[in-house]
Amino acid sequence: MLKVDNVTKKYGEIVAVNGLSFTVNDGEIFGLLGLNGAGKTTTFRMILGLIDDYTGDITIDGEHINYKISDKIGFLTEERSLLLKMTVLEQIIYYGVLKSIPVSDIEKRLDYWLDRFGISEYKNRKIKELSKGNQQKVQFISAIINEPKLLILDEPFSGLDPINVELFKSVIMDLKKKGTSIIFSSHRMEHVELFCENLVVLVKGKSVLQGKLSKIKKDYKKKNLLVRGDINKDEIMKCDGVEKIDKVNDEYIISISDESYVNSLFKKISKYDNILKFSVEDPSLNEIFISIVGDSYE
Ligand code: ATP
Repeated sequence: MLKVDNVTKKYGEIVAVNGLSFTVNDGEIFGLLGLNGAGKTTTFRMILGLIDDYTGDITIDGEHINYKISDKIGFLTEERSLLLKMTVLEQIIYYGVLKSIPVSDIEKRLDYWLDRFGISEYKNRKIKELSKGNQQKVQFISAIINEPKLLILDEPFSGLDPINVELFKSVIMDLKKKGTSIIFSSHRMEHVELFCENLVVLVKGKSVLQGKLSKIKKDYKKKNLLVRGDINKDEIMKCDGVEKIDKVNDEYIISISDESYVNSLFKKISKYDNILKFSVEDPSLNEIFISIVGDSYE
């Protein structure tokens, strides 16, 4: 289990991370979200032990970060950092040895992962000869070759085609099932919604939204009404609580500022002819994120 407890990191006058606390349990995928410059990379670097001049505590299974523990962390960075002139085998041995793994174990694990990712034939090819997607697979393997207890994934799907996104997702779910603690960072909220039970949203280093995703959505007072049928859009737009109306295919999405307006809108809409659908939905994480982060920046 990773525990980040009241951590603050300053770069001179800039407070990059401000009183941040969260835990990631074994077998949990935790979302660490924020716009550019919010403090995510700084947080990763502190967890990895690359920055140590911060206040607060970071522990894994109760132990402060040290070399022995950082060997059990895997990190897939957003910027790809492969050594292009090496072969896949040389590259993975290089990373594995840095993590203190015997070469025979590295080779055994590599064969498994190359097979799992469908790239066994590239084992002795130079990285620069691989496609971008296959380089991404090698980068992912380098992050998990140490069988990490804690895995940090920063935009893991960038540059992948839809088939490979599915492949990566299944590998991530398998690692979770095996008990790996995973920090997942992405600007793609639909991926975060898919994976993360708990999350934190950072704005200028500070948590502005934190907790269980299902509760965050339930507690969020804005809702969407999905309506199919012939409504008078201008009339509905004038009703109390209505913020905007979009039409996607044959469905209206009516955004309302508070759940308390549902009843009056239901009464109004049910008077129209041909209403085939009326349902109340929680907003997407993307809508919540934009609203919260936008408000915090104003
Ligand atoms: P991105 O999504 O763009 O990678 P981030 O959320 O990872 O952003 P950080 O890189 O952690 O954000 O940066 C947090 C803040 O700390 C920013 O204001 C950044 O300019 C500042 N910062 C980061 N590294 C340094 C540094 N080495 N020296 C001074 N300021 C820094």
